[in-house]
Amino acid sequence: MREHETHAYPAHAASGRLNAVLGRIADACTSAHRSPETVTLLAVSKTWNASRVLELAALGQRAFAENYLQEALEKIGACRAVAPDLVWHFIGPIQSNKTKPIAEQFDWVHSIDRDKIARRLSEQRPDHLPPLQVCIQVNVSGEGSKSGCPPEQAQALALAVASLPRLRLRGLMAIPEPSTDVGLQRARFALLARLARQIRKELATTGSSENPGARDFSMLSMGMSDDLEAAIAEGATMVRVGTALFGKRPPKHEP
Ligand SMILES: *Cc1c(COP(=O)(O)O)cnc(C)c1O
Repeated sequence: MREHETHAYPAHAASGRLNAVLGRIADACTSAHRSPETVTLLAVSKTWNASRVLELAALGQRAFAENYLQEALEKIGACRAVAPDLVWHFIGPIQSNKTKPIAEQFDWVHSIDRDKIARRLSEQRPDHLPPLQVCIQVNVSGEGSKSGCPPEQAQALALAVASLPRLRLRGLMAIPEPSTDVGLQRARFALLARLARQIRKELATTGSSENPGARDFSMLSMGMSDDLEAAIAEGATMVRVGTALFGKRPPKHEP
């Protein structure tokens, strides 16, 4: 596990940051006439060690999100022994030869961008665990970013994923290009929300009783430290927040 923090970290800083983020979410929900319970905070703990995760867990935070598989596996192992009820989300790029530990150790995967990855995750999800909850990652910024499936392919991928027995398709995820232009932020998030509505409609006409389809397809994983307000205004149900909860990551770990 990476332990780049050399100084003792004051615990009160963690509660101050958590409360500040929860306050931002609550304010954004008020502005959008939404109930704060409709938005789940995912703490993006990449680069931070297990003790920082457990510190937030002790303050009531349940959901944690990781990008780097090896780092995540060590951290999950360390945390499970003490806090078995945490929910782990994988949000990083997925190589097809790395799907097995993801299928075995995570509760959610947000970064499915192709059929092959989805099929492998379904085949490798252990029988004793509930189906893996998944979102399809969509590239809403065109040339500006490489990861995620193109918007025009999202519906076909969604229908394929919805038919896989050990996955439960829950929604869409996006990482728009960084921008300080709130109008642009909202346009990217609105595109994802619109796409999700279309796909939900399509799933409603094709879903079988075995694959509930549209009923479960309700999640929009969008919004990070700098744009969570815009995301919530456009319907985010899961915001993925790292920096605002843990502080600035060392530059070499930036994605
Ligand atoms: C790092 C990361 C985040 C968190 O970003 P912050 O700006 O630190 O809040 C969210 N989502 C994904 C996919 C990430 O890689």
